[in-house]
Amino acid sequence: MYHLNSSTNQEISLKSIFKESSTFTQEMIEKTLMRNDSNYVLYQDVLLLMRKLSEEFREILIIKEIGKTHENRPIQMIEITLKNSSQNSMLITGAHHSRELSSIQLPLLTALQLCHGYYHKDQETINFLQNHKMLLIPIINVDGFNYISEKFTQFGKYPLKRKNMNSDYENGTECDTSQKYFKYYLTGGLVTEFDDVMSGVDLNRNYDWDFGNGGGSSNDPCNEQYRGPYPFSESETRAIRDLVEQRQNDLKVIYNIHTYGNLLVHPFSHQKNNILAEKFPHHAKIYEEIWDEGPFPKGNERGNAQQVVGYEADGEACDWIFSKYQIICASPELGLQTYLANDFILSNREVVKQIIGQNFKWIKYTMRKIGPQLKLSIVKATKALLSDEINIVLRIDNTGLGDFKLTHEQKFDRRYHIQFETNYLTHIQILNGEATSRYLGADQSQIMTFTPHQDIPSRGFTTVTIQGRLNENYYTKLSKSQKSAELDDQYVTIEYKKYPLLQIEPQTLEIPLNKILKYNTISLSVSEIFNELLPQNSYRAWLSINLVLITICIIAIVGFCLFKMKKTLWEKYLINNQVRLNSQRFLDLKQNLIIQEPYLNDAMSRTDFILV
Ligand SMILES: [Zn+2]
Repeated sequence: MYHLNSSTNQEISLKSIFKESSTFTQEMIEKTLMRNDSNYVLYQDVLLLMRKLSEEFREILIIKEIGKTHENRPIQMIEITLKNSSQNSMLITGAHHSRELSSIQLPLLTALQLCHGYYHKDQETINFLQNHKMLLIPIINVDGFNYISEKFTQFGKYPLKRKNMNSDYENGTECDTSQKYFKYYLTGGLVTEFDDVMSGVDLNRNYDWDFGNGGGSSNDPCNEQYRGPYPFSESETRAIRDLVEQRQNDLKVIYNIHTYGNLLVHPFSHQKNNILAEKFPHHAKIYEEIWDEGPFPKGNERGNAQQVVGYEADGEACDWIFSKYQIICASPELGLQTYLANDFILSNREVVKQIIGQNFKWIKYTMRKIGPQLKLSIVKATKALLSDEINIVLRIDNTGLGDFKLTHEQKFDRRYHIQFETNYLTHIQILNGEATSRYLGADQSQIMTFTPHQDIPSRGFTTVTIQGRLNENYYTKLSKSQKSAELDDQYVTIEYKKYPLLQIEPQTLEIPLNKILKYNTISLSVSEIFNELLPQNSYRAWLSINLVLITICIIAIVGFCLFKMKKTLWEKYLINNQVRLNSQRFLDLKQNLIIQEPYLNDAMSRTDFILV
């Protein structure tokens, strides 16, 4: 039984479930993505859920048909956005292989999370929807999943059907279902009615990239990896091909979800040795960033099919998508760092919830990456030793996959050189950008907001230079209350760990997406920079100058004392105007004394030197 239609008179609304909590809970997963009699949903449950999503969230969500399956079922795509024009888009697909049931749950969870966030007016969700599009195809292999769902309803058992339902290439001879390992394809024992489980085409070997050339596919129609007679022979793969073709300029990331494993599989899976890093270093870096920052579940591994699962896969979807359009595409195998997650059909309910919950985290991270993702770093911040002039060079990198574009209004009102005063600086000049400032309150710090004066393309950067002089009242204006003043949380604060003398080491700060999207500007707290950095540096400079002076004084005092001691010593010898020298060496000494210790000349001229 499925929770959403468990009431006979009335369907349960998604909004009534979302209302219970402003965070998306495990219980919500339970109610929307799991049946009572199984840890998954069936085809009819997915159709009901999609209908309810489109009815209850029609202002952000529509369902489109992108093609038909072999058995003429619609292949449906959920499109979620607040803006219908061309936008940076992300596509998540499930069930290229129908038995990989959690690969259907994850795209559905993504739809539910966005609707839940929208329902609770979550700012990050709304910002995402205002600027991006999420495309979700929970089931590509609809016929295979329908077959599994029918058999489960009939027998209470899941047949492990991988391929689609197209048996046209078997030449009238049905695939042998009594084979030795057939039992493996059922959960719970052999049932004779599962006759179609071995037929069909492996949709993830049917794409037009190195089709049938490398390895990991078969030309035997009854084989699990049967690739079909030619590339795109199947209506399901043609639907994906046409969609990607149409939206190639908007699509920034595509995830074709699979199970199981705990792996991020990415191009090129038809090769033993992956040439991705060598031929596409720029893209390899993006895969690396996504994987590093995901976060992926513990123990996750990354690489092409050979690197992570130990076999090649030709005609693979992401190989074709990446090779043809250079769209970042990966085929993650969902899992966790536990053997309990290693199967297609899992009996542990908590593990299934963890799998989709934990793997949603990197989906969420990627949602930030398909737009502009700005990182601010201080390249250099210097203050002249004996003046109050300061110079700060900021670098803004766009590490996202979307361009950072200034709005029309900002472009229209563009000013390059703006001078203004803060509590701390005078004669400020922002080069290469625009700036405004506002007070946080009486006697508190002042915020400087600047906008780079140009668009920053994806993976590009720009710099902003701030020049100015410290206000002469700067030091007297610093107070404890200013230093500990709470800053408005819409502004970014920077923490610096090192304070080398008059030279600040580059530090990187990631600016949260909602700040960029909300204001389309980068905000810095001037007080944070100048309170925290410059006093430290000024103090260091002051300290180091004093250290030098103190050292000079000590050397002078010690030198003077030594001189005095030496003079006293010699004068003691010369006091009687008579010195007895007992060797030639002392004659030399006398000569040296005249040259090297001239202050003794008077005393020596009055002295008789007698050689003994
Ligand atoms: Zn798969």
